[in-house]
Amino acid sequence: MFDPKDLKAFRVQPGTKLDLSKCPTDWTGTRDARKLGKDQVKKRALALLDKSRAELAATQEIIYATNTNSVLIVFQAMDAAGKDGTIQHVMSGVDPQGCQVFSFKRPSEEDLDHDFLWRYAKCLPERGRIGIFNRSYYEEVLVVRVHPELVDRQLPSGKRDKAFWAARYEDINGFEHHLVRNGTIVLKFFLHLSKEEQRHRFIARLDDPKKAWKYSASDLAERQYWDDYQKAYEDAISATSTEWAPWYVIPADRKYVARALVADTIATAIRELGLKYPKVSKEERRALAEARAQLEREGETKRPKKSSSE
Ligand code: ATP
Ligand code: MG
Repeated sequence: MFDPKDLKAFRVQPGTKLDLSKCPTDWTGTRDARKLGKDQVKKRALALLDKSRAELAATQEIIYATNTNSVLIVFQAMDAAGKDGTIQHVMSGVDPQGCQVFSFKRPSEEDLDHDFLWRYAKCLPERGRIGIFNRSYYEEVLVVRVHPELVDRQLPSGKRDKAFWAARYEDINGFEHHLVRNGTIVLKFFLHLSKEEQRHRFIARLDDPKKAWKYSASDLAERQYWDDYQKAYEDAISATSTEWAPWYVIPADRKYVARALVADTIATAIRELGLKYPKVSKEERRALAEARAQLEREGETKRPKKSSSE
């Protein structure tokens, strides 16, 4: 198992200034785990993923039954960091009726005609559900920050300076605080990939006909802005990792490590809510017993007579 103390290290403490160059992208566990070798580490990561996945499936049912809380899980990353695969693996045990995934691409004309949180607010999880945002309102301070001309599609001309972005961070913090105070758990994951691993994954996409569809010309174009994106992520995560809606910077160069860490973090956060199946009151228990007795009686009168040969 990965050491739970290690897992806490990926949470970005509120008020700290994040330096992504100091956060590992290739992490294999505790020092002891490193001595174990790659195969053993992978085995442990997969065991943790399995355990957390089973726990998630069970707790999701309790969230659905109690219908008082919802969970919003945000995934952000550079291209090819493995958002899709992580979502697929981590949520694979969860009842599809209790889970909603939304992938946010470039905004439509209608989206642009509204405030910058509008299209995301429309997709928030209902009470009792887990909602996953594959990219999110954070794009409004990431891709839009790297390409500030995108803001001009929406807003009157003006300065896009530090104060402008600080106001957006403040709006996001307020938005998330509002959600949390209304029973939503907000968890945010940045899958932290190295530039070199991205290069390998792009090449793999180009070489494999089954993966080529994933490649888009904009991938290479955006890669040229790597440093600008890292800076935008550092600023956004530093300003919006709060007590109520923390960010986790997850090492993503090894897919099995990223998936295990994400699954465990989500399972732990839900476990800490301490939700229990709703209690059945005395009257309800009496009604259930009466319903059961009625069904029993029905069976007795309708059951076909057994033939003597049976
Ligand atoms: P993959 O990791 O598999 O490439 P993806 O999430 O990058 O998946 P794509 O269809 O490749 O999906 O890209 C979606 C694009 O939409 C991204 O380049 C993202 O930056 C862009 N996008 C998302 N939100 C906005 C926004 N608000 N304004 C402008 N562009 C946006
Ligand atoms: Mg992409």
